[in-house]
Formats: sequence, structure tokens, C-alpha cells
Amino acid sequence: MNRLVDELASLPGIGEKSAGRLADHLIRLPRERVQRLTDAITDARENVHFCSKCYTLTDTEICPVCSNDTRDHGTIMIVEDTRDMQAYEKTGKYSGVYHVLQGAISPMLGIGPNDIRLKELMTRLQNEEVSEVIIATNSSLEGETTAMYISKLIKPTGIKVTRIASGVPVGGDLENIDEITLLRALDGRVEL
Ligand code: ZN
Repeated sequence: MNRLVDELASLPGIGEKSAGRLADHLIRLPRERVQRLTDAITDARENVHFCSKCYTLTDTEICPVCSNDTRDHGTIMIVEDTRDMQAYEKTGKYSGVYHVLQGAISPMLGIGPNDIRLKELMTRLQNEEVSEVIIATNSSLEGETTAMYISKLIKPTGIKVTRIASGVPVGGDLENIDEITLLRALDGRVEL
């Protein structure tokens, strides 16, 4: 039981108390429910990988968004992680595609430009017909630093670069912001 509580408490967003409650709940579940849960975790860990185009997490070689021909493949929205992409997907109003950095530049955490998917982004911009890149990194210090870096990187290519409007609370994770604010930020994007 202590082992289970320790494991659960080591997960993000779960404190000692919640871990205790979860553990208490789990040990009371029927065996097959527990099996389903452990299977789901194992399957996800084994089958989920990065989309070979946009680097979101997916269980197919190319994710459903990238493989959808009705999407506008000439507009690429850059987000920090898969959850941010899902937040925009939930609005159902964005018809372009994405590029998922899987992080943001953070000198404090020792994350540099080479540690996020920027090289892959530049390769995409070289090989694909892209008319606009929308930078939708978070409005945190790391997100802004990353946005500045990317805009400088892309500028010489002549491709239009825009940044979603702020109004998104500083330090706020995109995934925690409601849909209306997300869409307002997208509509109000400015050219860099
Ligand atoms: Zn993809």
C-alpha cells in the first residue's frame, strides 16, 4: 500500500493526500477494472509516439490532424505541447495544422533551442508550401523567449509569422484557458 501511495504521489499534480485517497479507491476496485487501468497505461506507453510530421503524441505514424486532407496544411500553429494542441482542437474552429515543440526554451532549466523541435520545424518549412506560421507558445517567460527566437529564425524565409494575442494570463498554460479566450487570442494575432 505504501508503495502504491508513493508511486501515485510522484505523479504531477497529485499530492500525498490525493495519492492516499486514490490508492484507497484503487484497492477496492474489482480485479478486472484494475487490469483495464494497468493495460491502458501499458498500451499508451508502448504505442504512443511522436507524429513524424508535427511531433504531437499519437498512436498512428502520422497523427489524425496531419493526415486530414481537408485541413489547411499551409497554416502551421506552433504550440509547446500536445495538450495545447488539444485545447485548440477542442474549439473546433482552427482548420490549419500544428507543430508541437515538446517544450519551450528555458535557460533556467537548461533547455536550449536544440532541445525542442525547431530543426524539424525548419525542415518542414523548407519542404512544405507554408503561407503562415502562428506562434502560440504560452505567455510565460519561456513561451515569450521561444516565440522571439522562432520569429527571428523564420523571418529570413519570408514566410508570414504571427503571434497569438495576449490577454491570455501571464504564465498561463494554454490548456487551462477557456475556448473563447483561445479563439480571441487566435483571431487577434499580430504579424511579427
Ligand atoms: Zn501530426
